Order: sequence, then structure tokens, then C-alpha cells
Amino acid sequence: MAVLRVDSIALTRPLPENATARMRAERNVQGALPLSSLLRLHDVLAHDAGEMHWQAEFSCVAKGTRQLNLQLHGELQLLCQRCLGALAYPFGLARTFQLVDTEAEADRLFEVDPEVEIEPIVAGSKFDLAALIEDEIILALPAIRTHAQCALRQEDVKDAAQPLPEHPKRPAPFAGLAVLKKSK
Ligand SMILES: [Zn+2]
Repeated sequence: MAVLRVDSIALTRPLPENATARMRAERNVQGALPLSSLLRLHDVLAHDAGEMHWQAEFSCVAKGTRQLNLQLHGELQLLCQRCLGALAYPFGLARTFQLVDTEAEADRLFEVDPEVEIEPIVAGSKFDLAALIEDEIILALPAIRTHAQCALRQEDVKDAAQPLPEHPKRPAPFAGLAVLKKSK
């Protein structure tokens, strides 16, 4: 896969209004978001150094319908749920969204087709691209995040390795330490 060229556009949170207008007008913008700014990711990261590179292509398709093509790539240092060590996780994602102005408009599109192929997102004056990027990363992460060859052997943690709930909860902070002590 070709590496996206990332220019120096800084994406801050919240985006200033004029930046939002500019991004929506331009066809193509890109930049890099420091992982340390994605606060909702912190529970799953071993550390938050690094950046998520993003590219957003805004386009107008039929009848004034606006679309956003979002591409992300970067490397996350996930927290291994077994040994609590860092787990390098190359991340890449490409998704297309339909931009609508109101929640009502988005609801209407879901009513017409509940399995709508291109997900509508509300992108009014407060469109927060950083929040969307954060959402997409969280949704794309695997439920089970462990080293393929973990320092902790499988049999040491078989009691602790419960299937994850559909919505991953924050792991108990010292669960792995307890296992470490037991195995000594
Ligand atoms: Zn591990």
C-alpha cells in the first residue's frame, strides 16, 4: 500500500468554524492527529505516542449530495489484554460517508434503507472530524487484543480469559498483575 503523503495541516479539537468551512469546500485535505489528543482511545493504548494520519476527500455527487471519503493509517501501541504490554498494531481504514445537515435527514435515510451502504453522518456547522476519526478507530479495533505470542502463557490466564462483551469494557487495571504474581 502506498504511504499517504501527510502535509503540515494541524487538526485541532475542536475545529475552528472557519476550518470546518474550508475543509468542506476543499476537495481534499490531510494531516496527522496526535494519538494523545484522542482521549477515548487511552484505555486501550499502552502509550499514546505517535500520530494517526488522515486524509479526507469531500465531494459532491448527484443532486447536491455530499460525500466524505475518509482514509486513516498509523500504528497504535495497544495494551495487550493478557500481559498489559505494548502490542504494535498497524491500523488502516477507508470509509465513505454521506454528509447530511440534520439528524432528521440521517434518520430518514436509515428509514428508507436500514442497511444503508453509505452511512449518513450529520455534518452541520459543528462537524467534528477529529471525533469521527476517533469513533472510526474505536469501532474498527478487534475485541480481543493480545499478542499472538504473549509472554504470559495461555494456560496461566485461562480463568481470566472471559469472552469480551459486545461493547468492550475497560479492563480491570490490575487483572494482569494478579495473573503475573500467581504464575511465579
Ligand atoms: Zn501480551
